[in-house]
Amino acid sequence: MDMNAVNQNAGRQLAFNPENCERMPSGIFCSDSFGRWALTDVSGMPLLAAESFPQCLLPYMAASGSFYGPSLHILVVTLACNHACIYCRVAPVSEKEKGTEMTLETAKKSIDLAFNTPNDCITFEFQGGEALLNWPVVKSSVLYAKEKNKIYKKDMRMAIVTNLSLMDEEKFKFFVNEGVSVCTSLDGPASLHNLNRRYGNNGGHDKAVYWIKRFAAAASSSGKPDSLPSALMTTTKHSLSIPEKIVDEYRDLGLGGIFIRPLSPIGHAGTVWKDIGYDPLEYKLFYARSLKRVLEINRCGERFVERNAALFARKLFHFENPNYLDLKSPCGAVTGQLAYNWDGNVYSCDEGRMLGAGGDASFMLGSVYATKWRELFVKPSAIMCASASCLESQPACARCAFKPFCGVCPVHNKAAQGCIYGNMKGSYWCEIQKAVFYVVLAALRNPADREIIKGWID
Ligand code: SF4
Ligand code: SF4
Ligand code: SF4
Repeated sequence: MDMNAVNQNAGRQLAFNPENCERMPSGIFCSDSFGRWALTDVSGMPLLAAESFPQCLLPYMAASGSFYGPSLHILVVTLACNHACIYCRVAPVSEKEKGTEMTLETAKKSIDLAFNTPNDCITFEFQGGEALLNWPVVKSSVLYAKEKNKIYKKDMRMAIVTNLSLMDEEKFKFFVNEGVSVCTSLDGPASLHNLNRRYGNNGGHDKAVYWIKRFAAAASSSGKPDSLPSALMTTTKHSLSIPEKIVDEYRDLGLGGIFIRPLSPIGHAGTVWKDIGYDPLEYKLFYARSLKRVLEINRCGERFVERNAALFARKLFHFENPNYLDLKSPCGAVTGQLAYNWDGNVYSCDEGRMLGAGGDASFMLGSVYATKWRELFVKPSAIMCASASCLESQPACARCAFKPFCGVCPVHNKAAQGCIYGNMKGSYWCEIQKAVFYVVLAALRNPADREIIKGWID
C-alpha cells in the first residue's frame, strides 16, 4: 500500500479509526476528525485498523489559527472602477460616478478599530473597485497605520489590490519605499485577459504586465523576495481550453507559481453564468491540465508552485493549517478577517461586503462610527458565520473524508442557495473542492509528482 498513514507528524499511540471514506479513481481516501488520513486501495483497508499514528499534541482544529483574532483587515476605499470585467461581482459604479470613496476620517476610524485585534500580526489590504481611484486616502492611510504601529508594535504588513491601470512612477516609488505589496489580477495571456477584464479599447493586459515586471524587478533588487508582486487568476469559460497558456504566462513573468481559482456563480457572475460559467467536471479537467503543466515545468528543474496543491499538501504532510481563510473550519470570516466598507460599515469578510453592496446585509457587523470592537464578535451575523462554516455542523461535511482539509463558505451558500447554512450535498462549491482534491490526490499517487509537490512545502 503506498501513501498510507503518511502523516508523520501525528503520534505513536493512536490506532487509526477512519470515520469517513471517499472512493475515487485514485484510491480510497479516509480521514478522521483530527486530520489523520490514508489513501489506499481496497486491499489496504483491513490494514488501516492496525496502523498506529503519532500522537498529536494539539488537535487539528486548535492548530487552525482561528482564535487569535482577525489579522486581515480590508479597507474598501472606493466602489468606483475603470474596468468592466465580465465576472465582476460588485457591479462597480463608473469611474466618474462620485460618492463611494472612503473618506480619510473613515479610513482612520477603520484602522483605529482594526488595531484592537489581539492578533500580533496585522495586515491592511486596500482594495476597491479600483483602489487607486482613491489614491490620496490610500497614501494617507498607509502612513497613518505605520505611525500608529509605532505604539502597537505589531508585525504589520500592507498590500494594495489594484488592476494597475492607474499605476505611475509616484505611486510605484511610494509602494516600494513603504513596503506595500502589490496584488493584481492576471487571467492569462493578453487575448484571454482582455476578453475577461475589459478596459478601454485594448484591455488592461499590457499595463498589468508592465507594472508586474517593474515591481518584480524592484523586489529582486531590494533582496526582499517576499515583496514580489502577486497575481491572481479567475477561471471563466474562455479559460477552459488554454490552461497551459495561462500557466506559461505566469511562469514567463517570473511569478514563481500560480493559484488556479474557479469563478463563483454568485452576484453578477451568477446572472451571466450561461456565458462565462462551467460545470464542476469541466473545471476538474481544466485544473488537471493546469496541474499537469505545472508539474512538467518542475520536472525540468524549475520550482513553480500550484497553490491549491501546495495548500492541500501542507495539511496532508505537515499537519499544519496554512490559514487559508476559505478552507478552514470555521472559515476565516470575522475570526480571520474583517472588511471595512467605504461608508464605514464593517463586514465579516470582503465577499460578505460584496453581498452587502447588492442589498443583502446578512454579513454586516456594525459601523466604525458606532460599534465597539468586542460588539462585532457577538453580532448574530458573526455567530452565524462561524456556526455555518463549522464543518461539524454541516451534515454532508461532518461525514466527509475531506473534512479536515476543506471548508464551506457561508457567503457562497447565501448567494447560491439562499441560506447561510446551505446544503453541501451536490452543491457547486462542494463539487469544485472535491474536483481539486481528486486531482491533487491522483498526482500524489505518482512518486515523482509527490516529491515535487512535497518539495514546495518543505
Ligand atoms: S477591476 Fe475589479 S472591481 Fe473593477 S470591474 Fe474588474 S473585477 Fe470589478
Ligand atoms: S464541502 Fe464537500 S468536500 Fe468539503 S468537507 Fe463538505 S462535503 Fe466534503
Ligand atoms: S464567508 Fe466565505 S468568503 Fe468569507 S471568509 Fe468565509 S469562506 Fe471566505
